Amino acid sequence: MAAHNHNDRAAWLQGPSARCSAMPEASQNPWRLVLLGAPGVGKGTQAELLNARLGACHLSTGDVFRAAKGRPECDLSPAMKAALEYMRRGDLVPDATVWDMVRERSACLHCGGGFILDGFPRTLAQAESLRKLMSDEGLALTAVVNYELPVSAIVARLSGRRTCENCKTVFHAIERPPKIVGVCDRCGGKLYQREDDRPESIKIRLDAYDRSTTPLIAFYKNLGLLLPVAATGSPEDICARTLAALNTWRAQKLAPALAPAPPRTRA
Ligand code: AMP
Repeated sequence: MAAHNHNDRAAWLQGPSARCSAMPEASQNPWRLVLLGAPGVGKGTQAELLNARLGACHLSTGDVFRAAKGRPECDLSPAMKAALEYMRRGDLVPDATVWDMVRERSACLHCGGGFILDGFPRTLAQAESLRKLMSDEGLALTAVVNYELPVSAIVARLSGRRTCENCKTVFHAIERPPKIVGVCDRCGGKLYQREDDRPESIKIRLDAYDRSTTPLIAFYKNLGLLLPVAATGSPEDICARTLAALNTWRAQKLAPALAPAPPRTRA
């Protein structure tokens, strides 16, 4: 497996003309993954852990919108301003806005280190657009990991989640508390509760997930790409489970190509 590459994902977060400060090491068989799962199953945390183990970049559309939120109003397009309003309410941003943003950054999909898409695609239309773009560009997904967790556990995880303002490390008030309340263990930054992790937004987000994202499971199952993984236990347990499932998956997919031809029998 590739070593961890520090990468600030500038190209993804800041737009098509930005370049990553450290390009990931190119891999012969880059992992090109989509992570699915309701908000709160821990996709972001898993994407970070998988990035450290697989070398593939963590690309989160939610992070792009949050980065836009920190920019001066005058730098934002009207579509992005409207997108941030949807986000603040916990609603999905319209497909056209999300797709324009992803398409602008499509160079990241070619990254030799691979990628881990977190939070995208979220609707069938987005999944179709991604499938077409990747096929036009001669790229293929390796697998779509679907993290599964009961709703009650999801609500508990979301409402306790706290994120560092500075380095974006995620803590949990009960399951993974910081050493000092409200302060990031890693960089000393201030921890905050995401606006869309408040109870009134959680319900809207889970409903939006059911309505828009559940059909993606059938979509990717039909394409033979769906890999279900239980999202129970600690982040490290879930990551180990994911890596084991991915390695078995890849071995099975590569097996027919690598298997020796059966011996010829004489007639
Ligand atoms: P996340 O961090 O993935 O939970 O995303 C936070 C918010 O950003 C979501 O609740 C949406 O408002 C918006 N968002 C992120 N990705 C998408 C997407 N692929 N489609 C629509 N809205 C998105």
